[in-house]
Amino acid sequence: MTSLPALDYPRASAFLAEVRSATRALKPGQVLAIVEGVSDRAALMPHFAGEVVLKAAKGREKLLSAYFGLESSLRSPVVFIFDCDGNTPLELKGQVDLVISSNRDMEADLIFDLNAFHGVTQDYLGRIYEDTAVVRAHTEAAVEQASEMSTDLGLILKGAKAMGLTTHIKRPRAGIDRVITVTDVNDAAFDFSSRRPSDLSTLSQAVGTVLGWGQLDIEEISKRANSEYETHCARHETVCGRCRKRQLANGHHLVDALSLILDRVHGQIVSPSLVASGLRMSPSPLALKSWVVLRRLKAWEDASGMRVLR
Ligand SMILES: [Zn+2]
Repeated sequence: MTSLPALDYPRASAFLAEVRSATRALKPGQVLAIVEGVSDRAALMPHFAGEVVLKAAKGREKLLSAYFGLESSLRSPVVFIFDCDGNTPLELKGQVDLVISSNRDMEADLIFDLNAFHGVTQDYLGRIYEDTAVVRAHTEAAVEQASEMSTDLGLILKGAKAMGLTTHIKRPRAGIDRVITVTDVNDAAFDFSSRRPSDLSTLSQAVGTVLGWGQLDIEEISKRANSEYETHCARHETVCGRCRKRQLANGHHLVDALSLILDRVHGQIVSPSLVASGLRMSPSPLALKSWVVLRRLKAWEDASGMRVLR
């Protein structure tokens, strides 16, 4: 909390000012919850009590600036919810007012920890397959394939960011660039017919073509991605698909990949936004009890005496 080293995030100070004024505007007993992105906000909203104000920082740096910068006199009604990206500084762990997801973000938690995609696929695959076990097997396969696609794309984008290359697609009409996603990449770069991992060199080439990287950069990215793929995970001292997936597969890419798989493999057209809303609605109350984010929010409630969950 306030004993943590103050980090310098000058670009984010406007957000800190916004948090200060939102905190001052709270009614007694009202909670301000701050999440990283708007999709995190949408994923958490159904679980929050009616009076809670849920603010999206729209960036990790901004969220951290508010976490480190907010005065202790203003902190008691504020809880921060942070996406785990595998590089979470050690001093951030174990803070009761800083809840951290177990996967890359809230949607990834819903998919990997709460099996929320199972509810979504039953709706669509139940129309074409009679056997429940078949639907379940296709669901497992789809989640596995989507996680491969998102992890592989995440690995390539991580290398690109480290090299200072763009990861955004220009949108001339809308004016705002957006991060590339799996549906921007040529289908041929992914293998829908089997579940073997995509070839990282082919995928680097396909991503680089869309983003306009030079050929030498594409080759360097491909080299880095292939070498990182073979790198041992620090926690388990082995090549570890599980940790890689937790760190790299973000919810947005997973949702787009699942929508793509439902179309290409099963001929069911389900838009990414329908997949995303299905994910939010589908976990059972029992499954939600085990969700680490909600358990940590409960711990914050117990420590602070405030109410955030419905
Ligand atoms: Zn590991």
